[in-house]
Amino acid sequence: MKLAAESLGKQYRENTWGIRDVTIEMEEGIHGLLGPNGAGKSTLMKILTTVMKPSTGKVHWNGTDIINSPAAVRSELGYLPQDFGVYPDLTAEEFLEYIAALRGLNSEAASARIEEMLALTNLQWARDDKLKSFSGGMRQRVGIAQALVNDPNLLVVDEPTVGLDPEERVRFRNVLSNTANDRIVILSTHIVPDVEATANRVALLDRGHLVTHTRPEDLVQRV
Ligand code: ADP
Ligand code: ADP
Repeated sequence: MKLAAESLGKQYRENTWGIRDVTIEMEEGIHGLLGPNGAGKSTLMKILTTVMKPSTGKVHWNGTDIINSPAAVRSELGYLPQDFGVYPDLTAEEFLEYIAALRGLNSEAASARIEEMLALTNLQWARDDKLKSFSGGMRQRVGIAQALVNDPNLLVVDEPTVGLDPEERVRFRNVLSNTANDRIVILSTHIVPDVEATANRVALLDRGHLVTHTRPEDLVQRV
């Protein structure tokens, strides 16, 4: 699998570029997208997930130009948005059944997949509890479960540990680490330990520019 962006730029206004001249290639594993507020993380993610068109440059998913053919990646995409809202009165299992149905899984495939996802996210014990009773960390793990229901080849996770307490953060990281086999995971965050603990590669953004895309251990020496 390969996601390749070449010379990507996004101009919002005359003197405002969200990102500028970003060239990056990603293969299987977790890629941390690290940078302070305003660095361009959201802009880059929106372009890579075809939510937004760039002003300049190209994106190829396994060789297909996804700026012109976004369907080529959309069917293979899993997404956990930053403000992940759940249906408070559904149980975890009901919510995942609903998402699976939306994604077109038949009920047999859905129930097998939901079992796997509840196990992966350590939520089997809470499957019959309503989401409104869930802690922040449990909600984020439900968020990962729903993003993985259709076994996506590209998983995008936006600032997933904001607001979690340290213990929940570690739990979330462990779950995330277990999702990275055979897919590309993009983890946007400004929390360095999230990246150190999980990422195979780190893309460091600063004021719209890609500073480096390297192994986390190499990054520590730079900052
Ligand atoms: P991050 O996700 O790293 O916080 P963003 O991609 O949201 O960064 O923003 C990058 C830059 O682009 C910032 O200067 C931001 O203010 C600007 N920007 C983002 N979205 C818009 C928009 N819709 N209109 C104008 N400027 C924007
Ligand atoms: P993030 O840092 O994740 O982008 P923000 O709160 O900065 O979160 O941005 C929330 C939304 O507002 C995003 O969709 C972003 O693109 C948009 N946005 C960010 N900066 C600006 C801006 N200067 N003008 C208009 N929209 C913006």
